[in-house]
Amino acid sequence: MNCEIISVGTEILLGDILNTNAQFLSRQLAELGINVNGQCTVGDNAKRLTSCLDRAFEKCEVAILTGGLGPTPDDITKQVCSDYFGLEMNEDGEILKKIRSYFKNKNLPMPENNKRQALVPENATVLPNDNGTAPGFIMEKEGRTIIILPGPPGEMTAMFKKYVYPYLKKFSSEIIKSHMIRTFGIGESAMSTAVEDLLQSENPTVAPYAKSGEALLRVTAKANDEAEAEKIMMPFIEEIQKRLGEYIYGVDKESIEQATVELLKQKNLTAAFAESCTAGLCAKRITDISGASQVFHCGVVSYSNEIKNKVLGVKQEHLDKYGAVSEVVACEMAKGIKELSGATFGVSITGMAGPESDDENIPVGVMYIAVTDGITVKVKRLDTGHRKGDTCRDYNRFVGASNAINALRQAVLTYPGSDGKDINELINSY
Ligand code: ATP
Repeated sequence: MNCEIISVGTEILLGDILNTNAQFLSRQLAELGINVNGQCTVGDNAKRLTSCLDRAFEKCEVAILTGGLGPTPDDITKQVCSDYFGLEMNEDGEILKKIRSYFKNKNLPMPENNKRQALVPENATVLPNDNGTAPGFIMEKEGRTIIILPGPPGEMTAMFKKYVYPYLKKFSSEIIKSHMIRTFGIGESAMSTAVEDLLQSENPTVAPYAKSGEALLRVTAKANDEAEAEKIMMPFIEEIQKRLGEYIYGVDKESIEQATVELLKQKNLTAAFAESCTAGLCAKRITDISGASQVFHCGVVSYSNEIKNKVLGVKQEHLDKYGAVSEVVACEMAKGIKELSGATFGVSITGMAGPESDDENIPVGVMYIAVTDGITVKVKRLDTGHRKGDTCRDYNRFVGASNAINALRQAVLTYPGSDGKDINELINSY
């Protein structure tokens, strides 16, 4: 079965709102094994909406529309679709009663306009709106189906899940299931090269993506049921794990911070962060994960050299001689926060987020990240390569924080035991 998603609303075209309805519907239809032939966005204009329907039905049997079901004259979706199928609209007493009681429950007078929402195209299936006033509709004619849903995402998603999903499921003999394999520390093209032959597969498909400094692989299978889909995907996932194992931090994990918090919990270990250029972003991302209090001790945002010295015990002579963005300062910050907090690991990051650098020897995007368990330390110099532009500061901070969190994850994986350097020896060598 082929389907077209039509999003109605001038505000989407103007960029005032993001079209999250189309994203939701695409995902749901994929899960149902229904092919989405295309998505179209159209303003509140009858003529253009009619041409969208014409185009949709050239290739599809189903068109799903969202938006434009409100009570005002610019809400034209229901009228245009009824006209398209040549259907009369009649007032439905039951629906009108529901709309009246919706307003009564809210202690508001019902505007006369809202009566329009009680008009039902003849023979249409009415989809009750449990979260608002405008019902949705399923209209069928000569092998073609129009499904109309309200625009507000809360109303639309609830209506889709309760009424439309079961309706469409009847037409779909297949399901589509995906797993997302997330890697860290390997670029999209190196990752793709490592699994090039698998990218040619048709079922399952294997597709690479790049997202905020990470590379991901989505494995997707079409099958008659979930168990069969899993069986199709499993050998591919195992093969990918064999080839990219050291870079993979999780399958179907939300983020590097989620994987790290889970790992710390599993091993009953804790961490604390000393952050300069990311100014608390690592701490924020770690504590975004529910249950983080079991594993997160504290964060110190040591932006100034004075605080690096006074709070974290970074030697003034090192700050003066090597600068705040240096290997030795990162190591001392990690050591300082480890001792201050008593956590298993002290993690630090210091660097140049940009867009300007205040040290001519340190380009924007360069950062030092250190992780210590108090005995050994691993320190790395990161260069994101992002030197300028409006988004460079945000990008560098985000990618820097991701790398610091990943460095912690790697330290947790090998704990107890580390192939790091003796931390005191390293600091004293400066
Ligand atoms: P209402 O009764 O509220 O007028 P409606 O069914 O007529 O509902 P619209 O007027 O088109 O829907 O949209 C109402 C609101 O729903 C929009 O202002 C917007 O906030 C949200 N919305 C509409 N379409 C989308 C979309 N495609 N993606 C995300 N949000 C949307």
